[in-house]
Amino acid sequence: MIYGGNYEKNYHTHTARCMHAKDSDEEYVISAIKGGIQELGFSDHSPWDYASDYVSSIRMKLSEFDEYYESVSYLKEKYKDQISIKIGLECEYFPKYMSWLTSFIKEKKIDYIILGMHFDKTDEDGVYYAKVGNDNNHVDQYIEHCKEGIKTGLFSYVAHPDLFMRARDNFDERVAIKSRELCEFCKEYNMPVEYNLEGILVNVTKNINGYPNPDFWEIACEVGNEVIIGYDAHAANSLERVDIYDDAIIYLTNLGI
Ligand SMILES: [Zn+2]
Ligand SMILES: [Zn+2]
Repeated sequence: MIYGGNYEKNYHTHTARCMHAKDSDEEYVISAIKGGIQELGFSDHSPWDYASDYVSSIRMKLSEFDEYYESVSYLKEKYKDQISIKIGLECEYFPKYMSWLTSFIKEKKIDYIILGMHFDKTDEDGVYYAKVGNDNNHVDQYIEHCKEGIKTGLFSYVAHPDLFMRARDNFDERVAIKSRELCEFCKEYNMPVEYNLEGILVNVTKNINGYPNPDFWEIACEVGNEVIIGYDAHAANSLERVDIYDDAIIYLTNLGI
C-alpha cells in the first residue's frame, strides 16, 4: 500500500445514516488514514425538510443531522494530528427546497456540499435517474437540473455527472450532445466533475457498464474539464482501495485529463 502520494483528498464519503452504507464514522476515518488520505470530507446524503410526510429510505432524517455533525466534529478533533476532516453533504438540486437548503447549510455551518443529482423534482415523487432506462427525455432533464444546481453557486463539484449511464445500455448521439453540454457548462462555471470510484465497484459487482462511462470521459477530456476523483465510499474499507484510485489516475492521465 502506498501512503500519501496521490491520495491526498476525498470529499465523497457516506455514513450508515443513509441506510445503504455501513460501518461507523470512526471506521471511515481509520480507513482513510490507512489509505493515505490527508483530507477527508464526509458528504452523507442530505436530509430535506419535506413538505409532505414522506420518509426517505436512502438518507438521514432531518432530526439525525445534529448527531451527524457532532460525531464528525468529535472525530475531526480526535484525529486532528493525523488527518483533516470536513463536514459536508451530498445534495440534489430540488427546486422547491433550495431556499431551505441555502439557509440550512449556512445555519449549520456546513463546510461544503456536492451536487449528486439522483432524482428529478424531489424524491417524494420524482424519478430516480439511475433507473430511467434509455429514455433520452430523462437525460435532458438530468442535464437541465444539474445546470440549474450549478447556477445556484452552492455546490463545490458535480458528483458522478454520468449517473444516468447506470440505467442505459447505449451512449447514443443525443446523450453525447447532452453530455458535452453539461461538460461545457461545468467548464464555464469552473465546476469540477467527479470520476466516481464507487461506480466502478458497483459495475464489477453487478456486471454492468454503468458509470464512469468511457464515452462521457472522452468528452470531458475534449472539453478540458477539471476532474476530481471521489471514492463515494459506502463502506469504510473502500477508502483503502488505492488500487482503483491508481487505475483511475492512469486512465485519466492516458485520456489527457
Ligand atoms: Zn450520489
Ligand atoms: Zn454519494
